[in-house]
Amino acid sequence: MLALVIGVAVNLHNFRTGDPIFPDESLRNDPATSTAGLIAAIFAGMLIFSALVLTLGYVYRDARRRGMNPALWTLLVLILAPMYLFIGLVIYLLVRDPLPYTCPQCSTSVSARFNFCPNCKYNLHPACPQCQQEVSDTDKFCPYCGTELKPASATETGSTLKPTA
Ligand SMILES: [Zn+2]
Ligand SMILES: [Zn+2]
Repeated sequence: MLALVIGVAVNLHNFRTGDPIFPDESLRNDPATSTAGLIAAIFAGMLIFSALVLTLGYVYRDARRRGMNPALWTLLVLILAPMYLFIGLVIYLLVRDPLPYTCPQCSTSVSARFNFCPNCKYNLHPACPQCQQEVSDTDKFCPYCGTELKPASATETGSTLKPTA
């Protein structure tokens, strides 16, 4: 056991200092050194495996949170892992949907892909009536064509905040 520990230590030391891991033939055939190499390989394998398990767990939870198909994405990452390691994760991170947010009117969780709230029909992506470009709720004028916009709440606040005669 002690020989094993020393073997790992020697290996790590040589690895850090950039010396060849197996300096000479006698060491290469030393059972302690080859065992240490095996242990190191197993350790590296376990490290990659646990990283993969963590990745799969993350992709599953994240996909579910974003309203994507969690089983499908986890499977894709898993299938690509033996050949391309974490390329599945990279693909997932590139194409994943934006996080859902809450409707400003009724606080229902809505997907970023929705145009209207499925609960209260609130217009989540108001568009300019003139040029159809997406505008912000707070814009008074369309930033693309300059058309004057009526804020969604203007009809309500407009009547209550009427200037006094
Ligand atoms: Zn709503
Ligand atoms: Zn416009």
